[in-house]
Amino acid sequence: MAWEFSTEPEFQEQLDWVEEFCRTEIEPLDLVFPGAARSRDPKLKAIVDPLKQQVRDRGMWALFLDKELGGPGYGQLKLALLNEILGKYGSAPIIFGTAAPDTGNMELLAAYGTEEQKERWLKPLMNQEIWSAYSMTEPQGGSDPNLFVTHAERDGEEWVINGEKWFTSAGSVADILFVMCTNGMFIVPRETPGVEIMPYPRRHNHIRYANVRVPLDHLLGPEDGAKVLAQRRLGGGRIHHAMRTVAQCRRAFDMMCERALSRQSHGKVIGEHQMVQEMIADSYSEITMLRLLVLWTAWTIDNSSTQASRTQIAACKYTCAKVLRDVSYRALHIMGSLGTTNLTPLQAMFAGSPRMGIADGVDEVHKSTVARNVLKGYRPHDGLWPTEYLPAKREEARRKYADLLREDAELAAYAERAERYANSRS
Ligand SMILES: Cc1cc2nc3c(=O)[nH]c(=O)nc-3n(C[C@H](O)[C@H](O)[C@H](O)COP(=O)(O)OP(=O)(O)OC[C@H]3O[C@@H](n4cnc5c(N)ncnc54)[C@H](O)[C@@H]3O)c2cc1C
Repeated sequence: MAWEFSTEPEFQEQLDWVEEFCRTEIEPLDLVFPGAARSRDPKLKAIVDPLKQQVRDRGMWALFLDKELGGPGYGQLKLALLNEILGKYGSAPIIFGTAAPDTGNMELLAAYGTEEQKERWLKPLMNQEIWSAYSMTEPQGGSDPNLFVTHAERDGEEWVINGEKWFTSAGSVADILFVMCTNGMFIVPRETPGVEIMPYPRRHNHIRYANVRVPLDHLLGPEDGAKVLAQRRLGGGRIHHAMRTVAQCRRAFDMMCERALSRQSHGKVIGEHQMVQEMIADSYSEITMLRLLVLWTAWTIDNSSTQASRTQIAACKYTCAKVLRDVSYRALHIMGSLGTTNLTPLQAMFAGSPRMGIADGVDEVHKSTVARNVLKGYRPHDGLWPTEYLPAKREEARRKYADLLREDAELAAYAERAERYANSRS
């Protein structure tokens, strides 16, 4: 029997360690020194670096990378189980070396970089000695890559990049920017003259590239290969978002259930009111469905490839956005007035849910992908009626029993009565 829903005891032990480590080390760090995990301040680094070292010592660092790309090769399924924990704690993905946007950029370097590029950028990124950002979306349009115009022109031994990018997450603090041009993916050190970071938005930057010159070896992958690289990068990123979202949903659900048992109204605890029970029951089944979809997708990637799992990944992406929105809203609602404040994580979780429906591709585009791919497995029916048109099927079935119906009057009468009854209901 090949279906298997349990976790290997050795890996479960690792997960138990991660759960405890996140609760006792990372949550306090986030509460007292928010943002420390990405800080260059030596005092904060002195707190954060030993935590990263503990993760390394435990063999849990940068789990997202396959063996052939330089990682531990645990695969996506184990990463999904890990992310179900990390996603609850703001800086945990950074402390475990699995944070976006670096993960996707490292994957690109590992898959397409030359040995020299890997040495120069992948190694320090893996060690988090440097940070990166991914500059793809442009102000005039994000969903349709055909609208992008940022371009690199070759000039002797250099590429000269001109264009404008929008919503480059963590661009202002990155050491290197992965810039998607119409004719290739380029790695641009942020300090390069001509890289101009606009004052807002603050976290997801608007960046102008004005005559930015980089040497020829800053082209990553083949010339004109940017769309292929982008697909590879975003595929992995989307499933990682979904894995972390399962964690967020479960956190909201735990809060919802705890409150449902703690609060009284109209003579009983609110968890005994049926409408509250409905919210709990709906949330339970939606989270379970999302979780199984994500784990199955991760398993499919491990057993085929990201490319072959595109339909499932797209389904994970819009489903996780919807489940996060609905579950965090219900949890917030059950919390009553307290839920509307920032005294619990629920308000931020609910406010963050629209981001999940837009970042790395809007829901509509992923839904179209799913529908288009699913429809490839179907064909139009012949003639006027659908394949499941019952009168035609019944006629076909009668042909199968023709001999029997001819020979046995009792059975023929039975079949006649059944047909009359079916017709009377049509
Ligand atoms: C939190 C966050 C982080 C991000 N980080 C990065 C980053 O690091 N680097 C980067 O390059 N970009 C980043 N982005 C940008 C993101 O990739 C784009 O926002 C996304 O691709 C959508 O592009 P847009 O914002 O221009 O919206 P548009 O493309 O203008 O779409 C707006 C709306 O139009 C509708 N729409 C668009 N296309 C279709 C369609 N085909 N069918 C039906 N309806 C459609 C949808 O309702 C959609 O929501 C980030 C976005 C967010 C929210």
